[in-house]
Amino acid sequence: MEKGDLWVILEHGNKELSDISKELCSQGRRMKKSHATLVAILVGREVQESAHRLGRYGVEKTYLVEGEDWARFNEEAYMDLLSNLIVEKSPSLILFGSTPMGNALAPRLAVRTRGALVTDCVDFKKQGDRWVAVKSIQGNKINAKVTLSADRLQLFTLKPGAFEIEEVAPLQPIEVIPIPFRPSPVRVRTKIIGFIKADPKSSPLEEAEVILAGGKGFGNLKEFKVLEELGDLMGATVAGSRPAVDLGWLPYERQIGLTGKKISPRLLLVSGISGAFEFVIGIKDSNFIIAINKDPAAPIFKSADAGIIGDHHEILPVLIETLKKVEK
Ligand code: FAD
Repeated sequence: MEKGDLWVILEHGNKELSDISKELCSQGRRMKKSHATLVAILVGREVQESAHRLGRYGVEKTYLVEGEDWARFNEEAYMDLLSNLIVEKSPSLILFGSTPMGNALAPRLAVRTRGALVTDCVDFKKQGDRWVAVKSIQGNKINAKVTLSADRLQLFTLKPGAFEIEEVAPLQPIEVIPIPFRPSPVRVRTKIIGFIKADPKSSPLEEAEVILAGGKGFGNLKEFKVLEELGDLMGATVAGSRPAVDLGWLPYERQIGLTGKKISPRLLLVSGISGAFEFVIGIKDSNFIIAINKDPAAPIFKSADAGIIGDHHEILPVLIETLKKVEK
């Protein structure tokens, strides 16, 4: 097993590679051993162009599975394809996104191939010639380090946003190998006819990509509604601190923190929140945090990647007007 290739299972939407795919390629390049090849598995309709562009993230070879059959993600069809490919090519390590697609495939493939799986990895450390996966457990209070036996297929799912995207070359020619695979009608019994995009207002906070969080600093419900107006324009989910919930501006399901939800969005805008420990514990897995607070000494700035010192009653309306102009 140790001598096999490292695979990354990519995700593709609207003719674009998703960010998690770029993260998987970049992390795959950092983890692959000198003798192994970094192989991307790219499945979809009209994805050939993306396949040729993967060299810029260090991918050396792509197995390309293309066609109308693959226009939408179908768990059973992917399972049929991947379990066959694994038997045929014997990779030693596979990376998936910790996404609905990766979470559906990785555990099933681990069982089917008698492999070993670690989910929701946020980092990897080298120990001798092995990789130790780091993942948060106990509601993000503890980091666990997990090693897998090298004598079986190793599978990992990676938390989106936890791994840096690195472009290694502007245009690197790579080997693209078409795989003419048709899923078996015996194994694929479900036909996916479409997906309905979740409404950010009702979708689970833990799955939201962009979150606007507001706190007591808004003063009253009318002012807090400004955050909702911005959320509608950005397609973002609105959440808040405990006082925002206690004051009845938000339902409890939208509370962030120790006694609320732990979130991991790509972008989090925090406004009118001081940054108490009980709040901050819920946001530490966010990818990029922007904080607005009128108090330059507010502790929230210590947790933020970017900070704006100022009054949100002035800043947010300007942001709303600018977005409306851009939309037009
Ligand atoms: P405040 O601390 O009052 O902060 C308001 C902020 O708004 C201030 O920093 C102020 O400078 C700023 N501000 C005011 N006006 C403006 C303006 N016009 N423009 C810009 N900035 C402005 N809290 C949680 O959030 N989640 C939890 O899960 C949670 N669990 C808890 C569990 C326990 C056991 C305990 C004891 C507490 C818990 N808390 C929790 C409460 C926590 O300790 C804080 O009291 C709370 O997070 C503070 O909320 P806040 O930041 O909205 O309010």
